[in-house]
Amino acid sequence: SAMDKAAMEKAIATSGRTRDIIRKHGFTFKKSLGQNFLINARVLDQIIEAADLDETKGALEVGPGIGSLTERLAKAAGKVTAVEIDRRLIPILQDVLDPYDNVSVVHGDVLKTDLRALWEERFAGLAGVSVVANLPYYVTTPIIMKLLEDRLPLDNIVVMVQKEVAVRMAAKPGGKDYGSLTVAVQYYCEPELVCIVPGSSFIPAPNVESAVIRLKRRRAPAVDVRDEDRFFRVVQASFAQRRKTLANNLTAFSGKERKGELAELLTACGVQPERRAETLSLQEFAAVYEALEKAGMSD
Ligand code: SAM
Repeated sequence: SAMDKAAMEKAIATSGRTRDIIRKHGFTFKKSLGQNFLINARVLDQIIEAADLDETKGALEVGPGIGSLTERLAKAAGKVTAVEIDRRLIPILQDVLDPYDNVSVVHGDVLKTDLRALWEERFAGLAGVSVVANLPYYVTTPIIMKLLEDRLPLDNIVVMVQKEVAVRMAAKPGGKDYGSLTVAVQYYCEPELVCIVPGSSFIPAPNVESAVIRLKRRRAPAVDVRDEDRFFRVVQASFAQRRKTLANNLTAFSGKERKGELAELLTACGVQPERRAETLSLQEFAAVYEALEKAGMSD
């Protein structure tokens, strides 16, 4: 709308280097690609600091935009690879990143990228690799899940996400923010909130508050489960209807005819059937899954 355009013009007019680059290339933002470029230098520095990089390490950036974070990564890490979906940004990135010989830009959709192959091609021999990004919000969860499930050898994931999503990833059992995303993230990582970031730190400003979160990859998953896919299916089924008890959600999952058996089984592993999924720790989810698995009720 006209208002948006005026607000954007104002923001661009106050953001030095980003303005220059956008003007020079006549770039226009695509909302559908989650294009909110970070213009707050202090926040960019905080992201770099949280990523804990050095010249022996690599960084994968998802969605480099016009390269504001990429430039800092190039200075902080040994090697940087940035995957950007918007073809219009590729020549801009080539221009901005021209001074750096340790950065490569890949044009593509990160969700369709073979990250294992990219790792071998780009990051072989490095002491560690972290994912560092100001994520496009419309695909935050699929990107995070892909990074975790592809079982890549990575140290940290340091990302800007919607504040609400960061709160869910870092949630403790017992509240409405605790859900299947929480369990999935905390199964693989230790989350740590780095900072809350207001909309005014971006152009154009998103309608929501943002946050930088650091997900520190665990050496081994938080709990030991026989089959991860089936474990996560049980977790997801437990949260299927948030107002329902664990017993009711799991009955819908494993079949009405086994309702009685299920209640006994939950009680036997120390989880009262009336509890709600949001109150269960990862250890309790693992115990419930293990009991279902043994009873042949986990898929
Ligand atoms: N890193 C830049 C910054 O901080 O200013 C831009 C961040 S912006 C929030 C998200 C970026 O991700 C945009 O450049 C957008 O084009 C890109 N993007 C969106 N979807 C993508 C996808 N599926 N794969 C790769 N990049 C994507």
